[in-house]
Amino acid sequence: KIAVIGSINMDIVMKVHRLPEKGETLMASDYLTVPGGKGANQAVAAARLGASVAMIGALGNDAFGDTLLKGFQDEGLNVEGIQRTTGASGNALITVDDQGDNTILVYPGANGDITPQWIHQQEKLIQEADWVMLQLEIPMNCVVAAAKLAKKHGKKVILNPAPAAELPPELYTFLDLLTPNETELALLTGITGSEAGMQELLKRGVKTIVVTLGSKGSMAKSSDGIFTAEPYAIKAVDTTAAGDAFNAGLVVALAEERPLQEALAFANAVGALTATQMGAQNSLPLRGQVDDFMKS
Ligand code: ADP
Repeated sequence: KIAVIGSINMDIVMKVHRLPEKGETLMASDYLTVPGGKGANQAVAAARLGASVAMIGALGNDAFGDTLLKGFQDEGLNVEGIQRTTGASGNALITVDDQGDNTILVYPGANGDITPQWIHQQEKLIQEADWVMLQLEIPMNCVVAAAKLAKKHGKKVILNPAPAAELPPELYTFLDLLTPNETELALLTGITGSEAGMQELLKRGVKTIVVTLGSKGSMAKSSDGIFTAEPYAIKAVDTTAAGDAFNAGLVVALAEERPLQEALAFANAVGALTATQMGAQNSLPLRGQVDDFMKS
């Protein structure tokens, strides 16, 4: 069982040949609205991979909120931990170019209204979970409160430190897993080399560091040593949500008691498959698709 505590957004995606410069107007060649937000993406990704998932977060009092809630119910998520606020739901404006690179502008809306008090009211859902998944699109004091509460109940905690931000020192000590990409790793540690950076994070109290390397796959470091997992060769169309899918794959595999090396390979496959589709939640693969992809 997994509890995801994090952001829920509606993503407004436009496809462009190249990203616009400051002051420039470009015509987009495609447009779609898709459910997104790192928390929601990770929750839906884990559910599609076969896990039992509770989503803890907030939605506004608007049409996007209704659509997003209905979407979670259709995905089979437990939605008891979703609060409706009086304001707007979170949303993101995303541009994606021909290379699959993107720019993302996020309005937090209801995600920014979550408080540590309200996290504490979700104690029962946290108690029922084996793993608690966190990211950085809700207020930092809520991330800390959730990690601390999860540890109080002996739960495993994973933090995907995205979007990149410095972390309060005590937060590191609550983490079983920390999953930065290379940019986030450099920001957290001030160190450019991946291995030295991972070592620094272990020193701060994290049990296992997993670094996502985009088209180069992923690597991990724990007290058991260094692990590397080769990437899957794919044609990247849009890497939005690839990191979220990777995190979900990692936790689902670890929750199934699979060893870290196997979990990294599974997560690489989930991330790679997500990068082959445009959009966020719509591109997250089902378990059967991942299993077939890994066999082929
Ligand atoms: P983020 O968007 O958080 O920076 P990454 O771009 O590193 O995340 O992608 C997460 C994971 O998804 C990678 O570690 C890798 O496993 C997979 N992935 C992403 N892009 C590609 C790609 N072009 N080819 C193969 N795998 C990819």
